Amino acid sequence: MNKPVEFPVIPFDKPLLSLVVPLFNERPVLPVFFERVLPVLAKLDLHWEVVLVDDGSDDGSARYIRDVINRTPGVRLVKLSRNFGKEAAMTAGMEHARGDAVIVLDADLQDPPEQIPAMVECWQSGAEVVLMQRRSRAGETAFKRWSAHFFYRLLNRTSRTNIPVDTGDFRLMSRKAVNALLELKERNRYMKGLFAWVGMPTRIIQYDREPRVAGETKWDYPGLVGLALEGLTSFSISPLRWAILIGLIAASMGSVFGLWIVVKAIMLGDATSGYPSLVAIISFLGGIQLMSVGIVGEYVGKTYIESKQRPIYLTEEVFEGRESVRQHINRKMTGAPHVKAV
Ligand code: UDP
Ligand code: MG
Repeated sequence: MNKPVEFPVIPFDKPLLSLVVPLFNERPVLPVFFERVLPVLAKLDLHWEVVLVDDGSDDGSARYIRDVINRTPGVRLVKLSRNFGKEAAMTAGMEHARGDAVIVLDADLQDPPEQIPAMVECWQSGAEVVLMQRRSRAGETAFKRWSAHFFYRLLNRTSRTNIPVDTGDFRLMSRKAVNALLELKERNRYMKGLFAWVGMPTRIIQYDREPRVAGETKWDYPGLVGLALEGLTSFSISPLRWAILIGLIAASMGSVFGLWIVVKAIMLGDATSGYPSLVAIISFLGGIQLMSVGIVGEYVGKTYIESKQRPIYLTEEVFEGRESVRQHINRKMTGAPHVKAV
């Protein structure tokens, strides 16, 4: 009698958690990053993987990560062909993540990994999205705090998608939410807006944002203003309406003023004076016209970029090390993997 064929039993008992980490020239923070993140993951009663997205670093970050991967199962590197920006890097990470839930985390440890167990708990009790809301922002200037506050409020006034105040990209998303997000194929990726557009049952956890452990922020004020404009114009067309409104107000004021000039000229016969007011009006209207053309141009530019249908990012390589991720998924992890800081 033939022996029945025995199939290996794959224990898919526990869900897989993916950590997506976009990074750009973060070599100084990487040792501390692994030292703090891996023990937190090892304590979870879950399988896990870390997807590090190298967004075109040129400071040896990728070399260091490859070294860690060779010693640590479950860590993967997605290396992009150049710097595409954090928004594209996050998209790349989410496309490569295989988890039942995905957490997006900054490499500079401003998003404390110690919050991960609380996020996972929320997810396991039914939330599809767990948002991390900043209670405080240590290490950031008063001006940055004020401008961020102002921007979030302006954004929510202008768009129908409600973007929760003081939340960044640090969040957990279930597979359902990630798949929904990846359906959004647009090139202008304002992630905070895209995350909010997806919706789904959401829980909010408050946390204290920490200062960067090392290195420098990649954002300067022109960059932040650009991101703010991107946010405003990606999610609503109300700036176009503002242009119409301002135009209407200026036109009504202009006609009242014109009427007054005519009446004055007829009554007093003073038709030639008024040069200063003429110059003031012309430059005022010129300013409004340029601004309105600029607003229209922003939307035309966006349409142009979308119409080219270029990929959001290009991958140079995906490095998984000696052990394949599938083996890792099927293996029960015990204890913190040993990673020595170099
Ligand atoms: N980042 C990236 N690509 C970029 C800029 C930044 O992947 O072009 C990463 C960066 O390495 C970090 C995260 O995005 O992990 C947040 O960047 P940063 O700390 O500079 O921004 P901040 O926290 O000051 O807003
Ligand atoms: Mg940071």
